Amino acid sequence: MTASDNAISTELLDWYDRHARDLPWRAAPGQPAPDPYRVWLSEIMLQQTTVAAVKPYFAKFLHIWPTVEALAAAPDDQIMAAWAGLGYYSRARNLAKAARVVAELGAFPETEAELRKLPGVGDYTAAAIAAIAFGERAVVVDANVERVVSRLFAIEEPLPKSRKVIRTHTDAITPECRAGDFAQAMMDLGSSVCTSRSPQCLLCPLSRHCEARMAEPEHFPFKAPKKEKPIRAGQAYWIEREQSVWLVTREGTGMLGGMRALPDDGWSAKGDGSSIPPFDGEWAEAGSVSHSFTHFSLDLSVMVTRTEQEPAIKGEWWPLDRLEQAGLPTLFAKAARRVLAG
Ligand code: SF4
Repeated sequence: MTASDNAISTELLDWYDRHARDLPWRAAPGQPAPDPYRVWLSEIMLQQTTVAAVKPYFAKFLHIWPTVEALAAAPDDQIMAAWAGLGYYSRARNLAKAARVVAELGAFPETEAELRKLPGVGDYTAAAIAAIAFGERAVVVDANVERVVSRLFAIEEPLPKSRKVIRTHTDAITPECRAGDFAQAMMDLGSSVCTSRSPQCLLCPLSRHCEARMAEPEHFPFKAPKKEKPIRAGQAYWIEREQSVWLVTREGTGMLGGMRALPDDGWSAKGDGSSIPPFDGEWAEAGSVSHSFTHFSLDLSVMVTRTEQEPAIKGEWWPLDRLEQAGLPTLFAKAARRVLAG
């Protein structure tokens, strides 16, 4: 660590001591580390999701399952239903698996390398938990850190190629002590001061070290051009009988796997659905909804029929007045609202 790297970490930690965000999963700066269960749960929920969206889910999960052992003992369908609306559902499936591994071990692993072995815990998450919950000097690089470091060192190589050099610089400025506070300070700086579109350089505790400050910092980090997202078309089927709707549980490993859903025509990231309803009948289109997934966008038409028959697809009748409790993922919740709005 050079004198300048050292000054960056010291000045950032001073700033964090005065300006740290008060978040329900955090300990105040300099205080004993928070419960690893809270750190892990929050980090999994925060993957690709905003703090504002996560807060109510974090409170709900802690209320229902106050410990990792309680979560480990919960059935998958309850965990999936509690997760409904937060998106990226493979996270919930891995959450259940990881909770069971931790319960079996008797405690959370305490090192980055061991944490990395838990289902759903990637490089960033393992480093963040190791640093925040266990004080390990781990190098924590999320999108906020990528942005701040690209600007601090005016890294012109575009992402994702620049990840290696960003990591090297982050490693150099990460202090031996208080690595968890340092990681959280970088996240706070990135989300409140060094924001993507309008960095507040005049308020920034690191401005005297920042090489991009005088060179339009909002242009950093440079990014390789994105591929256009393909648009897929599909249909969902609303099958109604006596104030109930037929819901299926999606295949465990596919898209939205393990979640309750309306039956559909097999659309996927790779292609459109077949547009063939699950049985012959009088189907009427109730409109369509759009949804954006990571690698594609979907235009989903919602087809409606009323029937006295039991559909020949595996599922269950679900009362319309309890539909909120079915835990439908956002796409199907939107489709349901479209039908119910008439
Ligand atoms: S000086 Fe500006 S660009 Fe540089 S780190 Fe601070 S807020 Fe970001």
